[in-house]
Amino acid sequence: MPYSFAIWLTTIITLCASELAHGQPTNSPFDLHPPLKGELFLSGSFGEIRTNSFHAGLDFRTGGKIGQEVFASEKGHISRIRVGGTGFGKAIYIQHPNGLTTVYAHLDKFAPAINEYVKELQYERQSFEIDIWVSAKDFPVKRGEFIGLSGNTGSSGGPHLHYEVRSTTNQIPMNPSFSNLPIRDNLKPVINGLWIYPLDDSSYIQGKNNRTELNVQGQNGSYTIKDTIRVQGTIGFGVKAYDYINRGSLRCGIYGIRKHINKRLTYQFSVDEFSFSETRYANSHIDFALRQDEGKRVHKLFREPNNLFSGYGSPGGNGRLQVAKDSVYHITITIEDSYGHTAYLNMVMQGSDFGIKKLDEPTPPLRPANPLWLFYNDNSKATEWFSIQLPKNSLYDNINFTYQITDTLSGSYSPVVRIHNANTAVHRLYTLSINADSVPQNLKHKALIGTINREGKVESAGGQYTEGWVETQTNFFGDFLIAIDTIAPTITPQNMWENMDMKKEKTIDIKVEDDLSGIASIEGTINGNWVLFEHDPKNNLIFYEFDNKRLERNKTHKLHLTVTDNKENTSIFECKFLW
Ligand SMILES: [Zn+2]
Repeated sequence: MPYSFAIWLTTIITLCASELAHGQPTNSPFDLHPPLKGELFLSGSFGEIRTNSFHAGLDFRTGGKIGQEVFASEKGHISRIRVGGTGFGKAIYIQHPNGLTTVYAHLDKFAPAINEYVKELQYERQSFEIDIWVSAKDFPVKRGEFIGLSGNTGSSGGPHLHYEVRSTTNQIPMNPSFSNLPIRDNLKPVINGLWIYPLDDSSYIQGKNNRTELNVQGQNGSYTIKDTIRVQGTIGFGVKAYDYINRGSLRCGIYGIRKHINKRLTYQFSVDEFSFSETRYANSHIDFALRQDEGKRVHKLFREPNNLFSGYGSPGGNGRLQVAKDSVYHITITIEDSYGHTAYLNMVMQGSDFGIKKLDEPTPPLRPANPLWLFYNDNSKATEWFSIQLPKNSLYDNINFTYQITDTLSGSYSPVVRIHNANTAVHRLYTLSINADSVPQNLKHKALIGTINREGKVESAGGQYTEGWVETQTNFFGDFLIAIDTIAPTITPQNMWENMDMKKEKTIDIKVEDDLSGIASIEGTINGNWVLFEHDPKNNLIFYEFDNKRLERNKTHKLHLTVTDNKENTSIFECKFLW
């Protein structure tokens, strides 16, 4: 049984006892009414590795469709409602008397009364985006009450319900798997990759001073590395594993990892709960370079010094193994899912001496030695081309900071500045400025920092011109340049044209796209009155839902739409229609 779960059980028992004493119902904090009908199937597990984060909830499948009924897990009241084009999309937070808050995200619609309340507010504030705290008396909910329909809103990659259980006082998400939710897990985790890392220049795996992938064999929870692994020096492990829960679920993440060397526990990782402020440590937990280069999510079983994620147990040490010559090590890596199933990977390692000595004559450096940046210090570098300031604790480990200035790409207004290495993860926002001497006076307010993505395309990294530099805040390394956005967003109606009879239509659908800086605002009016356009940026779509309450029937109306990007380039679209 996971260690933290034992603590929770104690809490549950204590709570039950006190509730009994007061004659209250005895629902434990983890007695949750299922948020969807029937058996629950997962497409995402708690703590699984996502882009720049650990997943803070469970993703439930909704049969590939939107519009499944969603129910409150416990009595309480709606405490927060959010509407936005990214992140959670449409989301409801319910605060329960048992100290928990449940969150239901990517909803398509709220229950009618909530929908109307939100819409009133959107019209009052003339804003699609809403993030409000709701007073306890406004929307009390019963256990199992219908609260909305599942959807695919916000940053959702397909219809599903994102569901979280948080502690109300500190909003820390907990693993909802440790509850009575109807999730039938009957499959063991699968281990499908092992890497061994030399952790300094004089360490070798099978004679090589490189990260080395070994061939994992086995099935059904039992895996081995067939041959004895010969190593020299200090090494670490990386493991790739996943969990399918059951046949109706999609590939999910794992819950925990333990590593034993000669039966002694030397590494422990599990995700019972974590605060949102530590979720970015996911980038240090995994082999970040392997994710960047090959898209693989490999759990490292050794810790960088500034990885302060709370999910590591305390067997001591940082997971680095110093191998003694001729010693034999029996190593077991155990992978756990949230439902008590385990998979084991066994291997034998032998300390060796490959007879490789470090070269005596150092290779001459191409430039003066790169500065050593200590992660616990503020670090900065200023050149004629760029300047960079990293606050302390922005790095997970010390680095030898490097940079490179290369040719100017056509259409950009600075050379390409390579800031260190895109394969090194950064924990915090830092300030990056690029010399803007080449930017013409009349374009300065259109300048931003662009970054070159993996496909070689320039994306906006934000920022603006200030006193001879274009400056932004970013939290990754890579290739940067100054780009100019003078092109207004495009507006392409999908289902309307001038003087169209739209009496049978339910919505006005319009595609809006911007090439670089991104869409900053969407202002739609009909007959001069503000109307609600919902924004779905992942599909470059906005839509207005015809509204009997706010728009008169059987009349000619005039739509006026203004779309502005982050560099104040504006497009306008006008259209008369009959409704
Ligand atoms: Zn999710």
